[in-house]
Amino acid sequence: MSFDLPITPPDRVTGLVAGKPSLGGGIDMPVFYPGTGAQISTLTEDDAAAVDAAVQAARAAFDRGPWPGLSVARRIEVLEACRQVILDNVDELARLECAATGLVLKELRARHMVRAAGNFRFFAEYISQAAGQSYTQTEGYMTYVTREPVGVAALIAPWNAPVALATMKIAAALSFGNTAVLKPSEQTPLALARLVALLQEVLPEGVLNIVNGRGQVTGAALVAHPGVDLISFTGGTDTGRSIMSAAGQNLVPSTMELGGKSANIIFASADYERALDGALQGIFSNNGQQCLAGSRILVERPIFDDFVERFRERAAKVRVGDPLADDTEVGPLASEAHMNRVLGFADKAREDGGRVLVGGTRREDLGQGYFINPTAVLATSNADRCAQNEIFGPFATFLPFDGVEEAVAIANDTAFGLVSYVWSDHMPTVMATTPRLRSGVVWVNTPMMRELRAPFGGFKTSGVGREGGAACEAFYTEEKTTTIPTTPPVLRRFGA
Ligand code: NAD
Repeated sequence: MSFDLPITPPDRVTGLVAGKPSLGGGIDMPVFYPGTGAQISTLTEDDAAAVDAAVQAARAAFDRGPWPGLSVARRIEVLEACRQVILDNVDELARLECAATGLVLKELRARHMVRAAGNFRFFAEYISQAAGQSYTQTEGYMTYVTREPVGVAALIAPWNAPVALATMKIAAALSFGNTAVLKPSEQTPLALARLVALLQEVLPEGVLNIVNGRGQVTGAALVAHPGVDLISFTGGTDTGRSIMSAAGQNLVPSTMELGGKSANIIFASADYERALDGALQGIFSNNGQQCLAGSRILVERPIFDDFVERFRERAAKVRVGDPLADDTEVGPLASEAHMNRVLGFADKAREDGGRVLVGGTRREDLGQGYFINPTAVLATSNADRCAQNEIFGPFATFLPFDGVEEAVAIANDTAFGLVSYVWSDHMPTVMATTPRLRSGVVWVNTPMMRELRAPFGGFKTSGVGREGGAACEAFYTEEKTTTIPTTPPVLRRFGA
C-alpha cells in the first residue's frame, strides 16, 4: 500500500534572506514524506557564512530599517496582513506541512494554520492595548518606563508542529519591533519556507529571514552569532542546554520551551467517560508527538483495571492511516529513526518487567510509511524507562495510585515539569492536588486548552521562561526608564 502525496513540493528548498535565496554552502539534505518514506525534496543547508549573511540582513533591518520605529497603528496593519496571508493560503501551507510531518491534513487545516493566523492577531491586539508605567511619587520628577525592541531574535523551532509553534515566536518577536532569523527543524522545512516567502511580501525587507540545516551546523552558528540579541527555542531538553550555554557566552536572554513527561491524573471521583476521552485525546493527538501529551496516565486504584481495559479497547480501534483521509485519527510518525525509537520503548517496557497492553508494533500493512499501532503499556513503577523518558509518540504509560498523596508524589517524580492534567468532580480533591503539582500548567477536567494570554512554559528541565502575552512582552522588549524634572532641580555647583 502506498499513499498519495499531499502536494508536490519544490524540488529544492533554500533559506530566504531579505527576499533572496540564502547562501547555502552546506550539505544537501533529503526531505521525506512520512506517509510513504519517499524522498520528496532536497534541502540546502546554510553554513556559518550563510547564517552570518542572514543575521546581517536582520541587523540592517533593525538598525537602519523602519520596523522598530513604526507606529503601533501601522505595525498592526502589517501584522493583520501577515494573518491574512496565512488564511489565504491555508490549504497549500497545510499540505506542505503534512508532506514533511505526516500530521493529519484535516487537523493541520482546522487547527495548526488557524492557530498560526491567530498568533498574529493575538499579538496585534496585545500591542494595541499594552500599558506603560509612570511614577510621580518623588516630588519634582516624573519617571516613565518605555519598552523598546531588543534587536535581532534567533527563533529555533522543532518538527512536531512547525508552523503553529514557529508563528508564536515570529508574531511575538515582530509585534514588539524586533527583526528575526528563523531556523526550522531540518526535517520539516517545507511549510515554513513557503510561509516566510509569503510573509516577506508584506514585511519590510530583512525583518524576517529563514535559514535551514542541521542543529549542530546552522543552529549552532545562529545561536553563537554575536549579532543575535535574543534566542527563543522550542525543542528537546539536551538541545536547550547547549543553546543556553551559547546564550550565556554572549549574555543574551533566551527562553527554552523543552520536553515533557506529563502526568494525567484520573481520580475515581472523575467523570469517567470524559476522563477516558480526555486521556485518549491527550496522548494520541498530533500523532502523539506533543510536548504537552498526557503520557503518564495515573489512575486511582478502585477504577484502575476497568479504566485501563476500556482505554486498551479504544486504543486498538484508533484509526491509523493516510494523513489525507478525513477519518484518520493518527498518521505516521515524523521519521524512520523516530519511529524506531518509539517502538524501542515497547521493548524497554518489557525488559523493565512491564506489560504491553496494546500496540508496540509497526503497521507493516500500511507500506513503507512510519506508521505504528497506538500503544499503551503497564509499568511496574514510575522508575521504569517508559515512565521517565519522553517517548514523544502515541505511547501511553499507565500507573495506579491510592489517594492524593501518592498521585502527587508520582506526578512530581520526574525531571520534567511542563504540564499536568487532573480529572475529578470532587472539588476538595482538585484543590488538594493542583497547588502541589510541579508543572508550569495544570489543566483540570479538560484536555489541552492553550490560553495565549496566560504564561506557558515548564518547571524543572521542561523549560526556562514562558510564552504568552505579558511573558512575550517582557522577553521581546527591553525596559527603559526615563526621568524628567517637573521643576528645575537644585544643582550642586562643582568648581563655582
Ligand atoms: P531538537 O532539540 O532535536 O531540535 C529542535 C531545533 O533545534 C531544531 O531546529 C534543531 O535543528 C535545532 N538544534 C539542534 N541542535 C542545535 C544546536 N546545538 N544549536 C542550535 N539549534 C539546534 O527537538 P525536536 O526533536 O525537533 O523536537 C522535539 C522536542 O521538542 C521534544 O523534546 C518536545 O517535547 C519539544 N517540544 C517542546 C515544546 C514546548 O512548548 N515545551 C513544544 C514542542 C516540542
